[in-house]
Amino acid sequence: MTTTTLSYQGSRIRLRGAMLNLTDMWQAADRPPNRRPSDWLALEETARFRTHAGTHRTDATDLFAPNAGLAGICHLDSDGLVATVRGNQGGTWAHWQLALTYARYLSPPFHLWCNTVIRAAMQRPDHAPAAGDDPLRANLDEQFQRLHHRLDTLDRHAADLMFLTLSAQDLLLGTRRNFSGLSQAAILRAVAAEPYGGQCPCCDDAPVLNREGRPVAGAEFDHFFHRSLNRPEFGWLICAACHDDLTHGGYLLHFSRLPRFRSFQAAVLERRRRGRMRLGSTAE
Ligand SMILES: [Zn+2]
Repeated sequence: MTTTTLSYQGSRIRLRGAMLNLTDMWQAADRPPNRRPSDWLALEETARFRTHAGTHRTDATDLFAPNAGLAGICHLDSDGLVATVRGNQGGTWAHWQLALTYARYLSPPFHLWCNTVIRAAMQRPDHAPAAGDDPLRANLDEQFQRLHHRLDTLDRHAADLMFLTLSAQDLLLGTRRNFSGLSQAAILRAVAAEPYGGQCPCCDDAPVLNREGRPVAGAEFDHFFHRSLNRPEFGWLICAACHDDLTHGGYLLHFSRLPRFRSFQAAVLERRRRGRMRLGSTAE
């Protein structure tokens, strides 16, 4: 990240990433007393603007601390809009949108100059506010952020759907149906085989089979979706701790274990498919 230097009537104003040096601006505007960056930051109006800027930012935190890349930051405010820096990059730095408001406070002609020059500098491709050093990379970052946001939303919808499904099942299917001997045998075969090798398929942290391939004490055949759904692909053999979690943990916990259950279910179904193919070939 490079520092760009702008010049106002021979006085330098440093610009780095999305951040402008307020101390430089104050000096460029002829050092008006009582209008130092700290005076301005203490104003109620400034606080109001910062709240507004903080909540209406579209490009979020990546604009600020990492982008500015300022060595020796001694304080970065929690909204990421203002940083205090020591050393030769020293002074108070602020996000350019905030800095333009400071320029207006310093003097009208200075504000006019800043409005034109700083905006133009920020819009150059090498100084796009969110850009870092590489506009393509910045664009990708932004797309990924949007994608992550969408996936989070989808995840929440999926969790809600699971809750509704479980509630509906409770209304429609009341009774418990245990796994038959055949279903249990199918589950046992899948747990014994790779990748599980007798370990709990839910946590991979505790054995569920003994050396003879029988369930260890405490291991349970768990109905993952509902106690009345008892086909082999609706259950798994899990350790006592996981069974306890799933019994008392509610639907969000079920949702978090869903990927592991799906893998196990795929293993059970795959074994069944292969079993059928063998039967089919002997019949011919
Ligand atoms: Zn477990």
